[in-house]
Parts: sequence; structure tokens; C-alpha cells
Amino acid sequence: MQRIAIVGAGIGGLSAAARLGKMGYAVDLYEKNPVPGGKAVEHRQSTSSGSFRWDCGPSLMTMPHILQDLFAFCEERMEDHIPLTPVDPACRYHWTDGTVIDEDRSFWNQPAVRKYLDYAEGLYALSAPAFLQRPPRDWWKALGAEMIEHIKHLPKFMNMQSMATFNQKFFNDKHLLQIFDRFATYNGSSPFKTLSTFAIIPYVEASFGAWYPEGGIARIPEQLALLAERQGVRLHYNHEIHDLNALDASIRICNGDSITAHQRWLPQSHEGRNMLRHDLACSGYIMQLGVRKQFRELEHHNILFSDHYREEFDDIFVKKKLPREPTIYIAISSKRPGSTDAPDGCENWFVMVNAPATTPLDCKGYEKVVFDRLSKFGIKLEAKDIACCNSFSADDFERQHNAWKGSLYGWASHTMQTALFRPPLQHRQHPGLYFTGGTTHPGGGIPLVLLSGKIVSEMVLQDFPHTRFTPMPAV
Ligand SMILES: Cc1cc2nc3c(=O)[nH]c(=O)nc-3n(C[C@H](O)[C@H](O)[C@H](O)COP(=O)(O)OP(=O)(O)OC[C@H]3O[C@@H](n4cnc5c(N)ncnc54)[C@H](O)[C@@H]3O)c2cc1C
Repeated sequence: MQRIAIVGAGIGGLSAAARLGKMGYAVDLYEKNPVPGGKAVEHRQSTSSGSFRWDCGPSLMTMPHILQDLFAFCEERMEDHIPLTPVDPACRYHWTDGTVIDEDRSFWNQPAVRKYLDYAEGLYALSAPAFLQRPPRDWWKALGAEMIEHIKHLPKFMNMQSMATFNQKFFNDKHLLQIFDRFATYNGSSPFKTLSTFAIIPYVEASFGAWYPEGGIARIPEQLALLAERQGVRLHYNHEIHDLNALDASIRICNGDSITAHQRWLPQSHEGRNMLRHDLACSGYIMQLGVRKQFRELEHHNILFSDHYREEFDDIFVKKKLPREPTIYIAISSKRPGSTDAPDGCENWFVMVNAPATTPLDCKGYEKVVFDRLSKFGIKLEAKDIACCNSFSADDFERQHNAWKGSLYGWASHTMQTALFRPPLQHRQHPGLYFTGGTTHPGGGIPLVLLSGKIVSEMVLQDFPHTRFTPMPAV
């Protein structure tokens, strides 16, 4: 039997592990931390006001059918293990001029937004069967009869405009424009640099909805680890790997950051040096706040926009410093009905500001910048309102997850190459060495890393066939 060693129990590593276990391979998974989940873990803390729980990374997911497909592949039902509930509105957007917009059904049905989504639908139809479902080496296999109909959308991929310039064609309203520009940050990029192809991101959110698992995002990796174990995968926690070549397995899959892997866990190569030439996706400055108050004006997910959006991205990607006037994201899962994530009368705030992927990063005093900015929206927090405050920055992402310079997604998608041809899923010199997760193909975010695990498992099956396995039809 072929032995497979997987490094990292992030969602991508777990997705690959469960599928390969089901296929009949002998899989060992090594995780440096004591729990599975990587960036999708949770934190709990007791305070004098009671107990709080925060999602440490993702706070919603879309494309739930991809998670369903993983369970179905293992002949189980996602709903039996991870009940998902819709997030509606998916987000509430706030501006200092007092404007508030909810991202709900009526938002997506506005004429200008509909026109945008109609355009993006073609991009999705053309890219989903190739880019999202296959490694670049197999894109040609997507060229079936139904694809001929979508070929007319190809010029949309050749549109080299930035997302921000492209969005101006659709939206005269400055608030709508800023909402649609922000979708570039879903993969850690700047709307002023990333390509208009990423109009796909709002299309996906509009079409597949925003979802949240009962009990928090960490239930996803927790249940995936159990699913993998049920497929015979052996999980080894508190086990950090320092040399990918030293692993005792004919097939190795790295779910850790692929840039870090090429710099630290493999002998230095030309390929590894080339990886450092591209812009890195942003990191985050994060505060987990136990708040002894409740704010009716805030929803589960909130964006409080900067008045100077262009300058914010110049600070992050050009000057590589924390933005002087940040856009602030606040997720409050305790607002969900029946939630126990905060004590009565309190809220669990996850506050995030996009930050440069630069380590070490001086964050001293930045809490005050964030609190001062919140006060411009009428949101005032005094010291007595705060039960606890934990902050995190690029240095912590580097230390906790081995994320290169603390970047959340490896490369930013600022060029055609970094958008379409991300760090490869298979090492060029070592065919038995693969990569999976948000820093490789097809990119970051829960659905994409689940797909990354799926794609890599199919590559392994193709390259190192396992004769006893008959694939189930996909749902
Ligand atoms: C703040 C934040 C907010 C986000 N918001 C969203 C969101 O709302 N929706 C969404 O869909 N996505 C979101 N994401 C993105 C999403 O969380 C990630 O893309 C996804 O979880 C990454 O999964 P991964 O498989 O790449 O693995 P990672 O989560 O990067 O995990 C890799 C694992 O490998 C382990 N590891 C690394 N090196 C080694 C080693 N040498 N030996 C052993 N183990 C090792 C690490 O400890 C880690 O557990 C967010 C991310 C962050 C950080």
C-alpha cells in the first residue's frame, strides 16, 4: 500500500487526507499545533464578566456544496456533522456620512448590481470547471461540449484592468463602488492592483450565499479531522516537520505555507528564490474583544469603511505599514440566535484591519487608532466596557501557522501570473511532493482550500494509482 505523509491539519490538508484515506491509501497527517484547523481555529477565554469564544480566522463561508461534496465522497452527509445556518444579511456596511447598507437579497437585486452579476456569471461559468476543479496541467480536460457555449466569455479574462477601474463602469454610487472594490480583499489583494477577473468573488457570494456553522467555524476542521480518522487517517498533533525530504513516505503533501516550505523545509532552489519576487497578500491586525455592552447598530458581520480607500491600500502594499485610516471589520458571532459565545449583555468582537505582510511589524499603540476610528461611527468603547483584549499581527501568523511574513494567502493576486498560476500543486523536481491549501492553487478561503485538497487527491490517484478504488459519482 502507498504511504502518504501530509504536513498540516489546515482545512486543505484535512480535505486531502479524508479523500485519500477513503481512496485506500495509508495516510499519516502531522500537525505542529495541538488541534486541527490552522487559521480556522477558535479561542475561548474566561473573564470576570463570564466566558467568551471567538473564531480566530474565517467568520463565514460560501459554496457549501463543496463541503457537502467532501462528506458525500466519504459516503456521509455534511448535515449530520456540520449544520450550517444562513447569514442574512451577510454583511452590514457603514460609512462616516451615516450611510448603512445591508448585503441582503434586495441588495443583490438592484439593477446596477444585477448587471454586474450577469457579467461575472460568464466568468464563473468559464472558470469553474477548469480553474476551480482542476490543476493547471489538466485544464484542457474541461474543454467539453458545454464549455463551447462559454468560450465567448474568454475576452473577459483578457481584460487587464484593475478591479477598481473596472467596477467604476458599473457603479456611479460611491458606496456601492467601495463595497465591490472590497471583494478584492477576500484573497488578500488590493482592488487597485488586482485584475477585474475577481468580479467572480461577489458573484459567488450572491449565488451561493453566506453560511455559518452552528457552534462556530472551528466545527468545520474539528469534524473534518473526525471524518479523516473514520477513513483510517492517523493524525499526529504537536508534531512539527522541519524537512519535507526526511518524511518516511513515497508521497508527501505539504499543507503548510508553500512559500515557507520552499524557503525552509526544502533545499534552496531557483524556484524558491523566484517565489519571493511577487507581492504578498496582506496580513491582519486583529483584536479579540470581550465587550461588556451590546451594540444594536452592529450585525454579525460589519465593515466600517475608510474615507480614503486608495490611501489605505497604498499604506498596506506600497508603504508596507499599518493603515493610518483603516477600514475595520467587526464580526460578532454572539449576535446569532441562541449563541453562547458571550455572557448575557456582552458581545464577542473579532476586529480586523488589513495589514502588510511584513515581519517584524511595529503595532504599538495601534489599538488607539482603531478605537479612535470607531468613534467616528458613533461606536464608543471605554476601558470599563472591555472585559478582555487580545491582539494579533503578522508576527503571530508567522509564528502560529508558519505563514511567510504573516501573509494570510501567500501571493497577492496582483498579476495574471499570480492570479492564475499560483505556486504549483506539485514540485517540479520531486513528482511525489505535492502542496495543498490557500497559498497554492486555486487560492485562499474555505471553499477553495477544500477544492485544493480535492484536486491534489485526484492528482495523487492519477500519478500513483490505487487499484482497489472506484470513485463515487460526485453530488
Ligand atoms: C483572519 C482571517 C480571516 C479569514 N476569513 C475568511 C472567511 O471569512 N471566509 C473564508 O472562507 N476564509 C477566510 N479566511 C481564509 C481561510 O481561513 C484560509 O484560507 C484557510 O483556512 C486556510 O487553510 P489551509 O488549508 O491553507 O491551511 P492553514 O489554515 O494555513 O493551516 C496549515 C496548517 O499547517 C500546519 N503547519 C504549518 N507548518 C507545519 C509544519 N512544518 N509541520 C507541521 N504542521 C505545520 C499549521 O499549524 C496549520 O495548522 C480567513 C483567514 C484569516 C487568517
